[in-house]
Amino acid sequence: LSCTFPVFFSQLFLEKYGYFSEPGPGTHSPAEFTEALRDFQRVTHLPPSGVLDAPTLRQMALPRCGTDDGESRAAGPRRASPARRRRRTAQHGGRWYKRHLRYRVVNWPSYLPQHEVRLAVRAAFELWSNVSSLLFWEAQDGPADIRLTFFHGDHNDGLNNAFDGPGGALAHAFFPRRGEAHFDSAERWSLHSGKGRNLFIVVAHEVGHTLGLEHSPVKSALMSPYYKKLSKDFVLSWDDILAVQNLYGKPSKGSAIQLPGKVFTHFQDWNTDLYGRDRQQRSLSTYYCHSFFDAITTDGDHNLYIFKGSHYWVVSESGNASDPRPLQPRWPGLPAGIDACAWSQLSGKFYFFKGGRCWRYAGSKLEAGFPRKCSALGLPRHPDTALYFQQLRRLVLFKGPKYFVVGEEPLGAEPYYPRSLRDWAGLPPGTAGALTHRDGSVYFFRDDQYWKFDQAKLQVVASGKWAAQLAWMGCWDANSEQVLF
Ligand SMILES: [Zn+2]
Ligand SMILES: [Zn+2]
Repeated sequence: LSCTFPVFFSQLFLEKYGYFSEPGPGTHSPAEFTEALRDFQRVTHLPPSGVLDAPTLRQMALPRCGTDDGESRAAGPRRASPARRRRRTAQHGGRWYKRHLRYRVVNWPSYLPQHEVRLAVRAAFELWSNVSSLLFWEAQDGPADIRLTFFHGDHNDGLNNAFDGPGGALAHAFFPRRGEAHFDSAERWSLHSGKGRNLFIVVAHEVGHTLGLEHSPVKSALMSPYYKKLSKDFVLSWDDILAVQNLYGKPSKGSAIQLPGKVFTHFQDWNTDLYGRDRQQRSLSTYYCHSFFDAITTDGDHNLYIFKGSHYWVVSESGNASDPRPLQPRWPGLPAGIDACAWSQLSGKFYFFKGGRCWRYAGSKLEAGFPRKCSALGLPRHPDTALYFQQLRRLVLFKGPKYFVVGEEPLGAEPYYPRSLRDWAGLPPGTAGALTHRDGSVYFFRDDQYWKFDQAKLQVVASGKWAAQLAWMGCWDANSEQVLF
């Protein structure tokens, strides 16, 4: 072989993506090169000529996943040689031996809002959990089964895996149970369907690898190696669904939920589409038990209100959960995906917080002057948790390592706040919501965990998993059907 630039480039490419059985550029015979090219052409639906022509070179230059093409080539008429298969089994295949996996977004591009990145990543994981028996929780810190990290260039997992700047390899991931997906920081990532690489689509694809899925030879599959724009059609193809169900089985409740791509162009609204669909799905009244929620509070009749997306659930004092109800008729004008909610025992009013704004309702009536720009009143933007705290007869807003005490009339932060979260001994930062229970304790929630805070001792006195351990959360019926917690 004459080592012209295109030949050298294509050899490196075919080697990187697993089309040669032996490593080392320049060590391949012309016959091996032709065979590898033909394999690549089959996988990419080009005429399998074995000739390095312009369409083949163009195909090699398209943006794609950096994980190699492994067994997807075996779908062609020529089976992999035994030597090649042996090499593959060492790297490919594998699965997790549990259904309940934690993931963590380690970092993300600074130009993307954290909240939206987390929603996009959550939606990408839910794409897979909707059609399989898997369940995912986000870990905001600490250990996780699957870690998502952005890197520049060489990042210590082999020169073959060094990122290549804009275009080319966008991301890569490792098969179970390494639990790593890496994304090229040099790409222009986006959360919308227009310019840039859609992060949701690429995360969803890489998560597929971390679960054990290989590249698919089916052109329309999410697991096909080439980058796709977010389309209005279905995101997962039958091939993706069969592949994940082959490893982990079907969803334990109802049938698979298949969501069209247009749902994912507006993450804030995606629950609306989910529930608006007239189809069999998981038991809706306990959906919140297996997922995250945005906020939680309790009213004077000891009803729990659990908020997620554009819906809320009411759990009565006896522990019976309602079906999900849309926010709109109950609280007109309230947007989906609120940050925090609290019901005030003092005024009997509901407070909602999202971004820098707040809403206050007496019954279903939005009070005059609301929504207000509460960040201008000294309140934090995007509070983690809101709570009515009986001891102070004030609202408390939690945000990261700090908390704010907030008076209702006039609405605003009290002087000398924020203060350190250390005042709430044993409480972790980043809780999703809190409520004062009729037993007199304050319960804080984050992911699948709860912390019980004693108001007299001013410290956390117990913690655990809320769905399994707190009967009044209304999840015991849901749990009895499967052993997950
Ligand atoms: Zn891939
Ligand atoms: Zn890497």
